[in-house]
Amino acid sequence: MGGRQVTDWQGKHVTVAGLGVSGIPAAKVLHGLGAVVTVVNDGDDERSRTQAAELEALGITVRLGTASTSGSAAGDTLPPGTELIVTTPGWKPDKPLFAAAAEAGVEVWGDVELAWRLRGPDAAPWLAVTGTNGKTTTVRMLASILQAAGLRTAAVGNIGVSLLDAVLGEEQYDVLAVELSSYQLHWSPSVRAHSATVLNLAPDHLDWHGSMEAYAKDKGRIYEGNRVACVYNAADKATEDLVREADVEEGCRAIGFTLGSPRPSELGVVDGILVDRAFVEDRQQSAQELAEVADVNPPAPHNVANALAAAALARAFGVEPAAVRDGLRNFRPDAHRIEHVADVAGVSYVDDSKATNPHAAQASLAAYESIVWIAGGLAKGASFDELVAASAKRLRGAVLIGKERHLVREALARHAPQVPVADLGRTDTGAMSAAVEEAARLAAPGDTVLLAPACASMDMFVNYNKRGEAFADAVHALAAERGDATHRA
Ligand code: ADP
Repeated sequence: MGGRQVTDWQGKHVTVAGLGVSGIPAAKVLHGLGAVVTVVNDGDDERSRTQAAELEALGITVRLGTASTSGSAAGDTLPPGTELIVTTPGWKPDKPLFAAAAEAGVEVWGDVELAWRLRGPDAAPWLAVTGTNGKTTTVRMLASILQAAGLRTAAVGNIGVSLLDAVLGEEQYDVLAVELSSYQLHWSPSVRAHSATVLNLAPDHLDWHGSMEAYAKDKGRIYEGNRVACVYNAADKATEDLVREADVEEGCRAIGFTLGSPRPSELGVVDGILVDRAFVEDRQQSAQELAEVADVNPPAPHNVANALAAAALARAFGVEPAAVRDGLRNFRPDAHRIEHVADVAGVSYVDDSKATNPHAAQASLAAYESIVWIAGGLAKGASFDELVAASAKRLRGAVLIGKERHLVREALARHAPQVPVADLGRTDTGAMSAAVEEAARLAAPGDTVLLAPACASMDMFVNYNKRGEAFADAVHALAAERGDATHRA
């Protein structure tokens, strides 16, 4: 297949929509295959111009420009002769370019579809993970389990190694643990995983997808054509519905995961033990012990769910129980995901900057008893009512920062009027240290000050990493000032 593909690309006119982390490598790869590549990019700032110059030196055409007096941006019109568009995740499906493509009968692929089409004849199968929250954690747990089983693997997709690199690189893999975002799935018409999971489904990125229905439909694409198992969350019926709606290979099984006792064809938890009642000989009568809850790092409920989903995918691939346990034990969570920063004056400070939507923040708040909550940022069209109603009794206080903090404040007024709220009214980067000081004032010994903003960070910070770092810096400054910090790990 590899050879044929190369000749197929020769002279083919491909338009790449967007520069950036996935656009630039896609353009280079396509150019290398002999395609005639044009990159269109709406922005024409300093950085774009530098990137454009680099691509142009290779012989790739680049069109830059935001909406001008003519009223159309570089990326609004289809370059003449375009036979295929390869788009980057930042581009919303309602862009005029895609309407023009549909009109002209030109196919649109995302970066994941491109990688799928370019993989060789003996390519490693994909175990794929999506969901509103927990993707990165689950994919990393899965890769750790596959490694413990002695398989050559990597966590790829939205994280670490790009899919294009994994597919085209020298390294040989037995299986890939693939994280897929809803944006990528939207433009992945032919991707077929060995097995896949949708971890959970809650409103997020609705501004991109247009509606919850469209978002769910894109997530559900991950199950299309699965060969062995479609893994769903038994506590989240929407994920099970997506399995039912998917068109899968003959014999592919629906496998649930639950924090409760598992039914046949489920993985679950019994007396602090993760058990498999799906991939065992006699699932009506027996269950297989996989690991202990204490082997999950950290053992917060939502993270045990992630571990069960990872275990289900690994078991679908034939991994032995002992490797599931070893893989979970070896796993270390990434930064800014329920990361303990320090204890100051008997108060624990925890950084979950990665909780960028209400569903994630709710899981995070559920892991602590008495919380001073730091929240706010960009809401991305989400509502905070359910989150606040579910967490109200755990809140000692709330400190609000960021552009759309009024949405959180209003939800607090509706569902938790007794909780003291400090609205800092600030969106500058320095607001984080003021927020930590205010939180310290509201907290009592034994409490947790939790940064779980339920919002994106880009109104105040470059990304959630920077927001988490600002929080940690502020906590360390507080500790130095008080001189009584207990730093763990
Ligand atoms: P993603 O890659 O989907 O953004 P991460 O693994 O990076 O997911 O976790 C993001 C945040 O989502 C975490 O910091 C935590 O607050 C929350 N989270 C993780 N797993 C779950 C889950 N299974 N359900 C709900 N929230 C979760």
